[in-house]
Amino acid sequence: MKNIYKDAYNAAHVFSMYNKKSFSISQRCGCFYCLKTFSSDEIDEYVDEKDENDENGTALCPYCDIDSVIGEASGYPPTRLFLLGMYDSWFSMRGREDVQTPLGKVRLFLDGRPERFSYCFEEKQNNQTVRMLYLYDSDHQEHTLKIQIQNQTVTGHGESGNDVETLSLHDQGICETLACTASFGTERLDYQGNYIPNGMKLLMDEKTERQVFCFGISWDEDSERNRILVKQAADPIQTWKQYRRTDADEQFEEKWNHGFREKALEEYRKSDRI
Ligand SMILES: [Zn+2]
Repeated sequence: MKNIYKDAYNAAHVFSMYNKKSFSISQRCGCFYCLKTFSSDEIDEYVDEKDENDENGTALCPYCDIDSVIGEASGYPPTRLFLLGMYDSWFSMRGREDVQTPLGKVRLFLDGRPERFSYCFEEKQNNQTVRMLYLYDSDHQEHTLKIQIQNQTVTGHGESGNDVETLSLHDQGICETLACTASFGTERLDYQGNYIPNGMKLLMDEKTERQVFCFGISWDEDSERNRILVKQAADPIQTWKQYRRTDADEQFEEKWNHGFREKALEEYRKSDRI
């Protein structure tokens, strides 16, 4: 699948350097390292300055101190969705290709090929919980995205919830749930899917828009109580909501696909970043 937004993530990077002057106008900003969004008024540290009157400084993120801030005046939307794409492009060495769980490795496959996923973190509760984010930069063609646990001997029990599908497994004294933001067999979301042995398959078509698919995996020692807790913990809906495609993303996509791309790439080439 050709990623038509990859150039955008690269071209936008130019605006994270020597950008102090652009922040003299107050605007929404975002950091493509920690993925926080904030007002430019919160920026209080710049690097690469000769002195404090030098307007060529580079902003540091007020939350993580990394020089990875872009503002909306750049023409690129500082939304979570867009920042995740930039994160992929610039810090992708942190991407993962599998998650080891007690019942087996969990992997993603796009059109049958193993795929790295963008971001993964663990929350410490009683159980172990991992979230996986996959930025789908839609090309409006048919694709499949499969999440699968690499274990031939255990089969799960699928259950539909509110925009979440869960597959619960238990074996060898462990209970484990895979969950994914989807609504199989309804028209609520713009993609379909179904359960497969040891996983789930999402089906995208020409109507499926650019968005983040969000997965959760949770596990614990097997007990009636833990099965319920693990299922709740795996639910990725709160994380998913933070990455929803916004009006700013839509406007950007429209602009990018109608002339902005050529202009942006021209500026990028002039900037000697390539
Ligand atoms: Zn940051």
